[in-house]
Amino acid sequence: MPAGLIVKALSGYYYVLSEEEQTMSSVSIQCRARGIFKKRGISPLVGDKVMFELTENGEGMVDEILPRTSELVRPPVANVELAVLVFAVQEPALNLQLLDKFLVHTESAGLDTIICLTKQDLVDAEEEFAQEPAGGSVEGASMQDSVKTEMNVSTMNDVVQLYESIGYQVVVTSAKFGIGIDSVIERLAGHISVFAGQSGVGKSSLLNAMVPGLQLETNQISMKLGRGKHTTRHVELIRLQNGGLVADTPGFSSLDFLQIEEAEHLSDAFKEFRPYAAECKFRGCLHQQEPGCKVIEAKEQGKIAPSRYEHYLYFLGEIKDRKRRY
Ligand code: GDP
Ligand code: ZN
Repeated sequence: MPAGLIVKALSGYYYVLSEEEQTMSSVSIQCRARGIFKKRGISPLVGDKVMFELTENGEGMVDEILPRTSELVRPPVANVELAVLVFAVQEPALNLQLLDKFLVHTESAGLDTIICLTKQDLVDAEEEFAQEPAGGSVEGASMQDSVKTEMNVSTMNDVVQLYESIGYQVVVTSAKFGIGIDSVIERLAGHISVFAGQSGVGKSSLLNAMVPGLQLETNQISMKLGRGKHTTRHVELIRLQNGGLVADTPGFSSLDFLQIEEAEHLSDAFKEFRPYAAECKFRGCLHQQEPGCKVIEAKEQGKIAPSRYEHYLYFLGEIKDRKRRY
């Protein structure tokens, strides 16, 4: 019985790429799933590794779903390992609070994450303004003050540096000029990935730049993303030449609630907080104003960025509010 991978699901059919042919051809086999899955309340998902049989009519039958390493709800894809968080440096303005929220999502979903700052071409023009520092800006303060950042080269570099220091790979790209595209492609090899980010940041343009011949619609209005169209649309994995697979539908959504239920678990999703949180005096410390809090101490010593701590407190408030309401 051959093994394969479901690359598309549509109207009760599963399109399976057989393992042997995965590197050679992109022709998938149209399969039905055995009735047994339905009885057990399981349905195959795009991204599932399966065992299947060829039937007489040239179609196939999915017999077995191999164990999943992960299961995303939006988009409904199994075995996603990597999330690419796409944020434009400008148009729309870079929203660091939203970036941190997406990072909470990917950390709590157990996904590897890379951050992709798109539309790099939109900062270049402002380079000369970045050569101040006439007023002498305090380091780190620029990001703390506002969520949305007016972008010039030096603020962009601050953002790159901040997230790299936390341990995330940050790639700066321009789909318009083909900058940074190869670095993203390289990182996607051998994984199933999902792109996430606000509408209009350039996700579709980036994917189009990565895959010859791909023509995802760009410049769709925001209403169509996240809630409306994409939830009813089918999902398909786009295959890269290096074997990487990317969901053609963006992940999560700016409208999603944080997936974290318990306030104590939020700091786990802030990667750089973890070593300090482990040392806090009180078990279940929420790192707000508890005595002997090592996270607060680290923030005061400049080891945790003010913007990250501020967003932590903000999300903590959201989780508590939600608990109060339900
Ligand atoms: P999506 O909603 O995230 O998929 O974003 P799109 O790919 O549809 O892009 C939204 C708009 O940004 C479109 O008008 C694109 O032409 C534009 N855009 C995308 N990438 C770039 C880029 O690298 N530079 C510039 N200047 N514009 C871009
Ligand atoms: Zn603490």
